[in-house]
Amino acid sequence: MVIRLMHPLEGNERAIGLDYRTNPVQFAAAERARLTGQIVLAGPLTLVQGGVGLIARLPVQVESPGEAPRFWGLVSAVIDVEKLYENSGLRRPDLGIALAIRGRDGLGPAGEVFFGDPALFAGEAAITTVQLPHGAWQLAARPPGGWDVPPPNRWALRGVMAVIATLILGSFLALGRALQAAAAARRQAEQANLAKSRFLATMSHEIRTPLNGILGMTQLLRLPGNEEAEVQEYARTIQESGSNLLSLLNDILDAAKIEAGRISLNPAPFDPAQLARDVLVLFRELAAAKHLAIELEVADGVAACYVGDALRIRQMVSNLVSNAIKFTEHGSIHVRVEAHPAAGSNTANPGAPAGCRLRYTVADTGTGIPADQQEILFEPFRQGDESTTRSSGGSGLGLAIVRDLARLHGGDATVDSTAGQGSRFHIDLQVGRAPDELRGLGVPAPTVDGSRTA
Ligand code: ADP
Repeated sequence: MVIRLMHPLEGNERAIGLDYRTNPVQFAAAERARLTGQIVLAGPLTLVQGGVGLIARLPVQVESPGEAPRFWGLVSAVIDVEKLYENSGLRRPDLGIALAIRGRDGLGPAGEVFFGDPALFAGEAAITTVQLPHGAWQLAARPPGGWDVPPPNRWALRGVMAVIATLILGSFLALGRALQAAAAARRQAEQANLAKSRFLATMSHEIRTPLNGILGMTQLLRLPGNEEAEVQEYARTIQESGSNLLSLLNDILDAAKIEAGRISLNPAPFDPAQLARDVLVLFRELAAAKHLAIELEVADGVAACYVGDALRIRQMVSNLVSNAIKFTEHGSIHVRVEAHPAAGSNTANPGAPAGCRLRYTVADTGTGIPADQQEILFEPFRQGDESTTRSSGGSGLGLAIVRDLARLHGGDATVDSTAGQGSRFHIDLQVGRAPDELRGLGVPAPTVDGSRTA
């Protein structure tokens, strides 16, 4: 309710800081926009920065998953009424009709007359209603000397009024478009801001929890008379907390590097099936602890050697497998690797032989993700449903990093999911085909490599 941003600033400086709440002329319309959620038209009125203008105000709500929409503020656009009168032909000396307009604030017949002689509405004038996108005006017109002086020609008169009405409407449509565009930009910026502040709050929580674990356990370790088993347990908690902290800090560093455009890939020959197998080994214990089966499928046609940044690819696959375990309570995690010849060049390694598209799919039978949240989750700092997230922790950076890394590899990261039935995350990558002399160095892959851990 306080004017903070303005474009163009020049000439409008005096309006900055204007508080609608203490400005009786503008408060009613501003409040109506806030309460109805609709565009509200005000004026013509005298502007703080000088001149007379019409103001259209569009309320902006900022939404974030799991929260009620929050009123952020208003985006207003001003039409200089003198220009509007001029552009609509109302100031033309050869207009040839006497004309008045009523409907201040878009109130139609209920609004006051703001242009021309009010007496026209009382006399025998032709009256036309102009439906504005947000309200209405009425035009009253008659020949300048009254109906009896020149030959009365109602049709010509109506024609002039129709032209004027169309021109007025044109200005309002342009105004509406400008408002919508400004509001959309503002909403996006605010949503990103909100996500960032929520991220900071989550981060402090996420960092404090393992740190408290480490400090608490260290204190216990120092107490005299600890049993060996207790010492082992304290040490294990310290190690776990330390490694959680490390992975969190790694995510933050990666996200910062990606944002600054400072990550580059180091392509080298690697075996995509072996890479997946190594990731699965890392997570086997975690899956077993939740009684989840975890299995790998290597599709026909996946060769043992490609050229790509194996470290980064492993990071992406690990992230998806870690999420799959985190958000699944029953069932299994299924990882699939497939390869397809790709058209076009190999962005990860421009010098390599013609590229190939490698796809990793990580499917789970977990909570799934509602359709309206699927894209949002790939944005940095964004997490899904607050209640699950709170219980499972995390930074909200993982999927954003996965997508950025996949795009650096000339591919993308995507998801198919049905809420309540599980998710399938895909990573598509452009990789190089290894030169002939390197082929066969990798370990040949069996087609299905399963492990029932439950
Ligand atoms: P976080 O560190 O919070 O896990 P991510 O970017 O990796 O960050 O994931 C963002 C959000 O996406 C998670 O908080 C969760 O709501 C949702 N999500 C990610 N993977 C899955 C999955 N396999 N099943 C269900 N929800 C998922």
